[in-house]
Amino acid sequence: MTTRPHPPWPYALLDTTAHRPVPFRQFVLKVHGRCNLDCTYCYLYQGPDHGWRDRPARTSERTMRRTAERIAEHVRGHGLDAIRIELHGGEPLLTGPGPVLAYADAVREVVGCQVTATVQTNGTRLTAGVLDRLAGAGIRVGLSLDGGRAAHNARRVDHAGRPAWPAARTAAQRLAARPRSYAGILCTIDLAADPLDVYRSLLALGPPGVDFLLPHANWDRPPPGMPNRPPGRHRPQPTPYGDWLAAVFDAWWDEGRLSTRIRLFQEIAGLLLGSASRAEAVGLSPMAAVVVETDGAIEQVDSLRSAYEGASETGLDVFRHSFDRALRHPGVAARQLGEGALAEECLGCPVGKVCGGGNYVHRYAPGTGFRHPSVYCADLERLVRHIAHRLERTSRATR
Ligand code: SF4
Repeated sequence: MTTRPHPPWPYALLDTTAHRPVPFRQFVLKVHGRCNLDCTYCYLYQGPDHGWRDRPARTSERTMRRTAERIAEHVRGHGLDAIRIELHGGEPLLTGPGPVLAYADAVREVVGCQVTATVQTNGTRLTAGVLDRLAGAGIRVGLSLDGGRAAHNARRVDHAGRPAWPAARTAAQRLAARPRSYAGILCTIDLAADPLDVYRSLLALGPPGVDFLLPHANWDRPPPGMPNRPPGRHRPQPTPYGDWLAAVFDAWWDEGRLSTRIRLFQEIAGLLLGSASRAEAVGLSPMAAVVVETDGAIEQVDSLRSAYEGASETGLDVFRHSFDRALRHPGVAARQLGEGALAEECLGCPVGKVCGGGNYVHRYAPGTGFRHPSVYCADLERLVRHIAHRLERTSRATR
């Protein structure tokens, strides 16, 4: 078990006494802690946190069983009627589908509620036989791609520098033929790629949904293509990521492809119309996801690792601690505080209730923690205002 002292200082300025814990409903279960790819931008293996090196590569059956018991305990204690488990890595299919199936079975055997299971893969090990077995177990598959062409995926290579794209494209074709098993595509934005080419090439792969992700960055490690600046709400400035996303939004909205879910756009549109958010990228809804590492450590979401060494750690594990104990961790509490965790600039921001300060991890600055606007602040404001403007124009035209 890897336990390093957890630095509490990033949360020291937050008043968590008003925190009303919201139970976890999304359990990210690490099946395998290594990956056969070596993507040049990977925050997990190329970022500041090297904790993965100290953990076992594979999750043992004992850890799977104990995690399942802890999930069941949490479900019973909070009277939950449905949860999601997400089987992750590294690459969760690195040693075949067996461990993924075993983990899902372990949870379903003991958890007395509806369990939706998804595996997130780079696609390189998704053979027809593997997909058959996952589909047979009711486990849906999400693919990680940077676009629908070889050139878009040039950064996704294996440890010998060979491209992942040929195998990933075959996986996407297999999934397109099995829509019930296809959860969608996660795509990290690369400004060097044309947004409409990326969008249309991804749609050609037939996914039910695409999740566009901003590259993980913060005030110490600025996003690719952006300068280093002190934390704050800087105006005016270029908004390359906001522009990129606005171009995709227009194509999605104008070309009538709304049946393909684009989570970020749906979330922002929903928030503008008064709904609560369900994603961590925008909005103020409490975070209800937790991670269990290959050694049973209970952690916060992986993306925190892009901030600093040990940022996702809680010092807890499934052998000694319940998930309720994790709900009281200051890092988890901070992500359930909504406006209580926002910076002054965000509290006074005209799009603050929709943007919600953006993804928590993008607010980080060394020495002062997470109480800052997002490093993507101007891009987020640009996108929110753009979507608001398009919704308003459509509503006027249909009146
Ligand atoms: S709410 Fe969003 S757009 Fe507004 S200041 Fe904060 S990060 Fe910037």
